[in-house]
Amino acid sequence: SVMKLSIVIPVLNEQDSLRELVNRIREVTTKNSLEFQILFVDDGSKDRSWGTIVDLASEDPRIIGIRFRRNFGKAAALSAGIEAAQGEFIITMDADLQDDPKEIPNLLAKMEEGFDVVSGWKKDRHDPWHKTWPSLFFNWMVSWATGVRLHDHNCGLKAYRRQVFDEVRLYGEMHRFIPVLAASRGWRVSEIAVEHHPRIHGVSKYGFTRFFKGFLDLMTVYFLTGFRQRPQHLLGTLGLLSFLFGFLGITVLSAWWVLSRTFAGWEPIHLHQRAVFYYAILGLLLGVQLISIGFLAELIIASHRPHSPQYSIADQTPREK
Ligand code: UDP
Ligand code: MG
Repeated sequence: SVMKLSIVIPVLNEQDSLRELVNRIREVTTKNSLEFQILFVDDGSKDRSWGTIVDLASEDPRIIGIRFRRNFGKAAALSAGIEAAQGEFIITMDADLQDDPKEIPNLLAKMEEGFDVVSGWKKDRHDPWHKTWPSLFFNWMVSWATGVRLHDHNCGLKAYRRQVFDEVRLYGEMHRFIPVLAASRGWRVSEIAVEHHPRIHGVSKYGFTRFFKGFLDLMTVYFLTGFRQRPQHLLGTLGLLSFLFGFLGITVLSAWWVLSRTFAGWEPIHLHQRAVFYYAILGLLLGVQLISIGFLAELIIASHRPHSPQYSIADQTPREK
């Protein structure tokens, strides 16, 4: 039979939550008679997480475990789980019980309205202020910069049509931007408010630095979604502007230098005393550099080949044939 739903769960030191999480998923899927599989990806846990996953997998053939050799990050873990998933729909959720499995049917219902990506929105969020406040700003900024208006880009609970991942590659910490990357390729993206719980077991894996990394990633995503196939249009535009400024400055100064030495009444000028002279040189150099980098980027695209996976799988639990 065709499996309908794959639930992908990245795990980093969440030993005390896993069994409870599986029970809650069983409960809600049974109630809604949903056929499902769970893919746990252990992203280099140092606690008993992998042991628990192996136990769970041996008790229930619908549960699959994948263990990384070391910590590769949430995006890599999601990517490995999605790669192995067989469902028509993929739901990702955190392993720490902060996301509520009872939202699974609600996410699927929204998908059935004709969306390809449905993001959760932790409307009533139970995290400390030093996480929620930067998040407000981050979400506003991403929505503004990308045009994909979601309240909660960073929600771990999301649903996807599996084909989305034939096109959207996850690496680094790009998991926050799957809706943006998907939307940029024309997939339909929506959101629903979901219930969120405070963390009871274990500790959060992300600190305040996430905000800065997120901002850098946003610039990358802006570049990739708008200029992936034409980087010279962005770099070259900046480069040309810079070069033109420099060229204009040098031209005017040179003409002035010559004229001031040609006509009797003019005070001869000295270039090294003119600040504009240095700005002009800077502009010329910067312009040439930006345009050259643009050419390199174009060269890379023209000869691009797909990469090998960024992760290395150490173990996998046996699978049903
Ligand atoms: N996670 C992971 N690899 C990492 C960091 C986190 O697999 O390098 C998992 C973690 O186990 C959890 C989810 O990603 O299931 C979200 O992490 P966390 O709860 O720490 O984030 P927060 O809810 O505090 O934003
Ligand atoms: Mg959490």
